[in-house]
Amino acid sequence: DTPERANNYPTDSAGSPFRIQNFIDNEFVENTKTDEWIDTFNPRTGEVLAQVHKSTASDVDRAVDAASRAFPSWSRTTRQERSEILLRIGSILEEKRELFAVWESIDQGKTLARARIEVDRAISNFRYFATYILHEEGAVRFVDGPSSTLTYEHRSPVGVFALISPWNMPLYLLTWKIAPCLAFGCTGVAKPSEVTSITAFLLGEVFRQAKLPPGVMNVVFGDGPGAGSTLVKSPRVRGVSFTGGTSTGIRIRQDTVADIGKHLSLELGGKNPTLIFDDVDLAKAVPLAAQASFENSGQICLCGSRIYVHRKIYETFLSEFVEYVQRNYRCGETVGPVVSRQHYAKVRSYLLQAQEENARFHTGELPDEAPQNGYWIKPTVLGGVRTDSRVMREEIFGPVVTVCPFETEEEAIELANDNPNGLASVLMTTDVSRMRRVGERIDAGLVWVNCWLVRELGTAFGGMKVSGTGREGGAQSRDVFTNLRTLHVR
Ligand code: NAD
Repeated sequence: DTPERANNYPTDSAGSPFRIQNFIDNEFVENTKTDEWIDTFNPRTGEVLAQVHKSTASDVDRAVDAASRAFPSWSRTTRQERSEILLRIGSILEEKRELFAVWESIDQGKTLARARIEVDRAISNFRYFATYILHEEGAVRFVDGPSSTLTYEHRSPVGVFALISPWNMPLYLLTWKIAPCLAFGCTGVAKPSEVTSITAFLLGEVFRQAKLPPGVMNVVFGDGPGAGSTLVKSPRVRGVSFTGGTSTGIRIRQDTVADIGKHLSLELGGKNPTLIFDDVDLAKAVPLAAQASFENSGQICLCGSRIYVHRKIYETFLSEFVEYVQRNYRCGETVGPVVSRQHYAKVRSYLLQAQEENARFHTGELPDEAPQNGYWIKPTVLGGVRTDSRVMREEIFGPVVTVCPFETEEEAIELANDNPNGLASVLMTTDVSRMRRVGERIDAGLVWVNCWLVRELGTAFGGMKVSGTGREGGAQSRDVFTNLRTLHVR
């Protein structure tokens, strides 16, 4: 379970256990003022896998210094130059695809197949923004009359960015921030999750090999209240792109509220509905609903964790769904563990509550209080959960899904929207007018009709309600990382 961990990557002099050091100014830096490390664990076994540098305020300052020094020259590079470097990063990542996938799978607990998909998507992130910047179009307008001007909009990079990501798709989500940050001429300090830091550590070497100039992208490791919070609050950090939980997003907003010009993009949690109407082909609907529920053990912000099925097909759907899940989603084969002991306890607490509220466990069970040999939780399908239960309202972020019937289209929309979150949704129907009628009324930044997890990187990504502030993707990412000025030229 431990691949060629040296594999020409920097390890500390002792070699073991694997130590994850900050990457600043293109160097892996020794721990400076502190000798504190955070243990991270292999979710499949519960054993210590690596130690992550617990960065202090002075470590974070050092990284912000490096990014600030690098900004003037990086922001003046041409799009062509930046594009070439980003394409090189993409190609080097592609050469190292298997190494990244193996580590991502070990560190996060996801299946290797899932990890490979995410590495491929990370490569696409770099290629997409590398080419996006070469093809941007702008409009020039003419103001007539005595004060005739030629008027246009001009963009410039914002400055140093804090790029903060969660543990569920570590490489993919971090590169979704790093790629546009670099492409639009900003410099950055990335702070991956302390729970899954390994692939971010490996990225440093990729940046070096791609000849990204020193200081342009730095990576600091450590916890949220320490390194993350210091980074966000730094007055020299001119923007924050954050993906993570809603409560952390609120905290970041509070911490930056007085720095009014700081750009803020917050991609937060979800509790996404899947609506299944009575005109669907169950042979297609069942596997799709199962995938949306249990991919990555339900640890994707976009997972459909509340399934609503039209009463007419409810019983048939439920029995086919449960059978399909039991047959195809097995721990250790197609389903990995959840990421950590803490997360295991969190998911378990919701299952305990479901049990106490007499919910029906159609499949799955309450896991042991103390995890044995890794953080395994069986895919669980719950019925009979009340709409006002925490189990139904809050994001569990594990292999747990609720199933409920509905009678009418109107009721389906009401149930879908009866939640504080508004990130994503799935709608299954073959009625084309319903696709629009319902799809356009769901409170969700993303509506997938008869599909799930499809992404087109030029389209807006983000959530409504408590699921976030702002959007990323294509022109929306450009808006996050650039400042806009309008020029009137006489
Ligand atoms: P989290 O909010 O606990 O942590 C996310 C990151 O923020 C980590 O790097 C953490 O160290 C850092 N952090 C924590 N406190 C901080 C603070 N005060 N200031 C600055 N940084 C801080 O989230 P998590 O548990 O790692 O990830 C799971 C959550 O992420 C879920 O809610 C999930 O829905 C969400 N998520 C959202 C999206 C999306 O695109 N909307 C994608 C993936 C995950």
